[in-house]
Amino acid sequence: MMERPDLEQALRRLLGPAGPEVGCDACFDELDRYVELETAGADADAAIPGLRAHLDGCPACREEHDSLYALVSGEQAL
Ligand SMILES: [Zn+2]
Repeated sequence: MMERPDLEQALRRLLGPAGPEVGCDACFDELDRYVELETAGADADAAIPGLRAHLDGCPACREEHDSLYALVSGEQAL
């Protein structure tokens, strides 16, 4: 059978980092990586576009990010 590019495209839009807006599901999926990049001093915003904007507009994910960031940066300080 042929692949279904429409479906794949729709999924990419939902899950991929290239979309203009990141949803909560995509945000949670990428949050670990985002925080790791941040704490490593890398440009997390460039690596995962849209996630910063989502954090700014979503208090729930912002809170998740903040606690994860504290956890990861605390681990690295040891
Ligand atoms: Zn969210």
